[in-house]
Amino acid sequence: MIDSDTKTLDAVVVGTGMAGMYMLYRLRNKGLNVIAVEAGTGVGGAWYWNRYPGCRCDVPSIEYSYSFSKELEQEWDWTEAMVGQPELEKYLNHVADRFDLRKDIKFSTRVTAASYHEDNGRWAVETDQGDKYDTNYCVMATGCLTIPNYPDIKNADAFKGEVYHTATWPKEEVDFTGKRVAVIGCGSSGVQTIPVIASKAKELIAFQRSPVYTFPAKNAPMKPEFLAQAKKDYPEIREKQRNCASGIAGYSGPKKPKVEGAPKKRKASRKILGLTAEQRQAELEEFGIGAIPNYVDAFFNEEANGIVREMFDQELKRIVKDPQKADALSPKDYPLHCKRPVIDTNYYDVFNEDHVSIVDLRKGGIEELTATGLRTANAEYEFDILVYATGFDAMTGGMTAIDIRGKGGESIKDKWADGPTAYLGLQVCGFPNLFTITGPGSPSILSNVIVSIEYHCEWIDQTISYLRDNNIKAMEAEQSAADEWAIHVNDAAQGTMYVAPTCNSWYLGSNIEGKKRMFMPYLGGVDKYDEKCREVVANGYEGFSLTS
Ligand code: NAP
Repeated sequence: MIDSDTKTLDAVVVGTGMAGMYMLYRLRNKGLNVIAVEAGTGVGGAWYWNRYPGCRCDVPSIEYSYSFSKELEQEWDWTEAMVGQPELEKYLNHVADRFDLRKDIKFSTRVTAASYHEDNGRWAVETDQGDKYDTNYCVMATGCLTIPNYPDIKNADAFKGEVYHTATWPKEEVDFTGKRVAVIGCGSSGVQTIPVIASKAKELIAFQRSPVYTFPAKNAPMKPEFLAQAKKDYPEIREKQRNCASGIAGYSGPKKPKVEGAPKKRKASRKILGLTAEQRQAELEEFGIGAIPNYVDAFFNEEANGIVREMFDQELKRIVKDPQKADALSPKDYPLHCKRPVIDTNYYDVFNEDHVSIVDLRKGGIEELTATGLRTANAEYEFDILVYATGFDAMTGGMTAIDIRGKGGESIKDKWADGPTAYLGLQVCGFPNLFTITGPGSPSILSNVIVSIEYHCEWIDQTISYLRDNNIKAMEAEQSAADEWAIHVNDAAQGTMYVAPTCNSWYLGSNIEGKKRMFMPYLGGVDKYDEKCREVVANGYEGFSLTS
């Protein structure tokens, strides 16, 4: 029974990050009655919430941009090779305005519950603002990195100073001038924000549980001639993005004509095994620390990984002058490529400054927060501002934060208690007509995520057309297909450093206490994944049950 306050829709899109915005655009263009619901006051998702100082994309902007509108590609000018959060947010606001998306977005509203009605194949969606929607399709564009992780620290509320989390940074500027600042967490967010905060603060203490492998970003202002050429080359760039594993074409400008007799530009080797100690040293000196993540054998081979880690440590000790700090920053406990390698601007250099220190929590963890700071097993620290850079309940958090109930009232939380399975990362068995953009089991964050997002939005759009054209009331992933796919996703990661026994990462869910350890993204590559999805469609939506 639908009460009179309930709005009847064809589709609800949850979230307006890059995924939700494009999904809304596509579904509206096909004439669907659709609303997107957004917890923030603006669009942008990750690029709206993560507005901490230093936040920046680590994929070249030419490639980290929508491909669906040729006009948009031509009219937008990026100012840097890899732009910061403010410019990305501006771009996404421009997209929202250009395609008039805002009129169908309900801002400052959080979806709290969604339940499936088996009798009519429709979803009842509720929000914290009291909205009720009765909808045919639910598209979860809730993102892979959405729900902030606050570590469970004793007396967490005791600290009387200012407290921030990188993933929910306020819009108002935070003034660090003359302040003593503590940052807990040294992953991508910590690495980006520490040098920028340190440039203002009187003192900065980084509390680090796991050091990262980080490499120079080498960001630079965008050259106008490069941008102009990239705009001309966009068709080839997009083609290449969709037909490679990473979703990154690696565009470096137009191919230069070969000059007869010109010396060949030297490149670092592809593999580290097989090089003599002298050759490795020569490569390190010639190409620097940035060459290290590109030795492909280190992805799979422990010996190769050991060698590149030694090279990494050697460079680290050269850059960071204080041996104690260098030792603290050395990630000796786990292999390179287990966690996402970070790229940084001045991260190690900042530890050469006297007012920046590092606390190695491997030697004694945080015991509690106090009114004036925190206490570890070894010492007490005082500061004025505390910044959590402690990451996310990744891949599943955005979904499990909502009370989503499928057939028989089963909750998504229970469904995923033994690990999240979603057939192709697109649908969960028992949750018909609900689609997940970049869900677990898809390339998502192991690819240039915007390429994967666009692909998913287009697949969902075409699938909804198929369902409507064929009077299909409900579409649902079959459990056997979802299980088989989960085995394939797991197999694809075997033999890589991502699942090494000493590896604990958010890819595995092991940054969150109690979360089932399972490798969640699909490592098979964007190209192979797309091929599989096309094959599924060509075989009449093989692995999905369709009910008229
Ligand atoms: P993260 O990689 O999960 O790092 C969180 C950090 O907090 C880790 O160092 C973690 O240590 C630490 N931590 C967690 N709980 C702790 C505790 N109780 N005590 C002490 N330390 C604790 O999260 P993130 O840095 O926000 O990055 C997440 C992902 O977001 C990245 O991998 C990347 O995909 C994306 N991101 C991208 C960019 C970019 O485009 N450049 C920037 C930021 C984020 P452990 O490692 O020991 O758990």
